[in-house]
Amino acid sequence: MQTLSAAQRTFFEQAASTYQADLAGDTAVQEYLAKRGLSPALATFRLGVVRRPLVGHEQYQGRLAIPYLTPAGVVNLRFRCLEPHDCHALGCPKYLSLPDAGTNLFGVLDLKRDSPHIVVCEGEIDAISWSLAGVPAVGIPGVDAWQKHFGRCLEDFDVVYSAGDGDKAGAKFNSLMAREVKARPLRIPRGLDSNALYAQGGADGLRRLIE
Ligand SMILES: [Zn+2]
Repeated sequence: MQTLSAAQRTFFEQAASTYQADLAGDTAVQEYLAKRGLSPALATFRLGVVRRPLVGHEQYQGRLAIPYLTPAGVVNLRFRCLEPHDCHALGCPKYLSLPDAGTNLFGVLDLKRDSPHIVVCEGEIDAISWSLAGVPAVGIPGVDAWQKHFGRCLEDFDVVYSAGDGDKAGAKFNSLMAREVKARPLRIPRGLDSNALYAQGGADGLRRLIE
């Protein structure tokens, strides 16, 4: 696992704080998040929006900033497109990573929660949704981002569930998680993802899948 220099940590912390403050003054993005049930995540997950990009972050202007929070502070950030368009159809990268940052497991603060089970998700927003629903969850930024050492973080839980989206890529994610960490796949309805279920049905919309 990569270690960050003190300067990098300070820079990531400054980025997270700046974008969080930018979001506090941005009602349009606050509404976007509210529609997805994510308002509580503004404080707990320190979500932000890039309005005053730090040096080197100019290409993330206007994007949702998702900091990777750990007991040692912010160790990475990813940036999600907020445009009201179909990113895939336009060839717009829905998520952007920092070019010089490594790949981290998202949501590691949830690894310390007292629970017999944990949910592994395909992305940060889905992991946040489960976590807000009261179920510990971590996120992997895509199937290709899986790393063997992530599996060791999940060893303390009796049951690992995987919450791949209700599509082909989601099925692929669930098979990978079954192979790597013996995860039990959750039944996310076709065409939906964890956040959509959470936005529609609240905590119960997700919790009933594991009960
Ligand atoms: Zn886009």
